[in-house]
Amino acid sequence: MTGIYIHFPFCKQKCRYCDFVSYPGKLSEGECYVDALISEMEAYRGALVDTVYLGGGTPTALAPSLLSKVLSRVASSFSLAENCEITVEANPGTCDKNTFSCLASCGVNRVSLGVQSFSDFELSLLGRIHTKKDVYEAVDAIRFAGIKNISLDLMFSIPGQTRESLYDSLYQAVSLLPEHLSCYSLILCEGTAMYEANERGELALPDEDEDRDRYALLVEFLKNHGYDRYEISNFARGGKISRHNTKYWTRAPYIGLGAAAHSFYENCRYENPSDLLAYYKQVGNKILPKGEKITEKDAMAEFMFLGLRQTEIGVSRSEFLRCFGKSLDEIFGRTVQRLCALKLLDDSGDRIRLTDRGIDVSNAVFCEFI
Ligand code: SF4
Repeated sequence: MTGIYIHFPFCKQKCRYCDFVSYPGKLSEGECYVDALISEMEAYRGALVDTVYLGGGTPTALAPSLLSKVLSRVASSFSLAENCEITVEANPGTCDKNTFSCLASCGVNRVSLGVQSFSDFELSLLGRIHTKKDVYEAVDAIRFAGIKNISLDLMFSIPGQTRESLYDSLYQAVSLLPEHLSCYSLILCEGTAMYEANERGELALPDEDEDRDRYALLVEFLKNHGYDRYEISNFARGGKISRHNTKYWTRAPYIGLGAAAHSFYENCRYENPSDLLAYYKQVGNKILPKGEKITEKDAMAEFMFLGLRQTEIGVSRSEFLRCFGKSLDEIFGRTVQRLCALKLLDDSGDRIRLTDRGIDVSNAVFCEFI
C-alpha cells in the first residue's frame, strides 16, 4: 500500500522562520492549482492507498469547497483502504467549524494543527497569524465535527522562551487531550526574516545546552502525561502514531502530488518543481517528475538513518537482511560497534536504537552511515 502526500503551497502570510515552499499572496491561484492536482492524480490512478496527507503551506488557507474537490477526486482516483488515515494540516488562523465539518464529511479523520506555542508573545515573534484563543477554538471545532484524531505541533528554543513558558505551552497542549504531538526545535534557515534578525544581533537564541535542556524537559513532561516518544520529535498516546509519516522513516512508498512534492516508489525518489508555473507546465504536458534511482549503498544508509529516528523500535537486523539479502553487521558492523562504545547506540540483539545521548547528537550519528 502506498501513501499520498498533497502539497498546498499557499499561506496567508509568511511566518518569520519559515523556509517551506509556500507562496503568500497567491491564494487566488487556488482553483487553477486544484485543477492541476486533479490532472496529476490521473498518472497514478488505481494505486492502493492507506494514508493520505494534505500538507503545506496551509491547506486550510484554501476554501473548504476546493479541499473537498481534491478529496473527492482522491477517493475516486485511488483505491482507498477501509481504514485509510486521512490527515489535513490546519492553521488555527485559517479554519472554523465550517472548515472541519466539510473536511469530516469528505472522510478526513485526522487533523494536524500548527500551534507552535500557547504564548501570544512567542506567536507574534514567530510571525504566526493566530493567537492562543484561536487554537482553543480550532480544537473545539475539530472535535465538534467528530474528528477524533488530533495532532498538535509545538516549537521549542524560541528566542525568549523560558523553561516556564515552554512548560506552560506543554501543559495547555496536553489539557486539550490531543492524540499526538510533534515538537520541533526552532531552526533558523538562511533567507528567513528571523535568520536576518539574528544576524543583526536582535534575537536571544538559546545555546545548544539550553536547547537540549528544553528537549529533555518536554520528553519528561510528555512521558509523565502518557505520551510515548516513538520518533525523535513525535509523541503519541494510545498508539495513535502518524501512520503517514511512519512511511517516511520505514522507506515505504508514497506518491507526492503538487508543487515541490516528493515521491518514493519502486526504489526511486522523485521531486516536482517548486515553481508554480514550472509545475503547471509539467502537469499540462503530462510529464512525470524526473526520478533518481537509489543505489543499494544509499538505500542501506537510508534504512539506517531513517530507521534510527524511530526511537522506540530503532532498526532491525532481520529486517535489514530481508530487504538487502546482506547482514547489517557485514555492512555497518564496525560503525555500530564504535557508536555503541561511545554510548550513542544501544545494541540489544536484533534491534539497534539511539541512546538518549545519541538522540542529542542524532545528526552526527546519522552521518556515520552515509
Ligand atoms: S503557516 Fe507553515 S508553511 Fe505557512 S508560512 Fe507559516 S510555517 Fe510556513
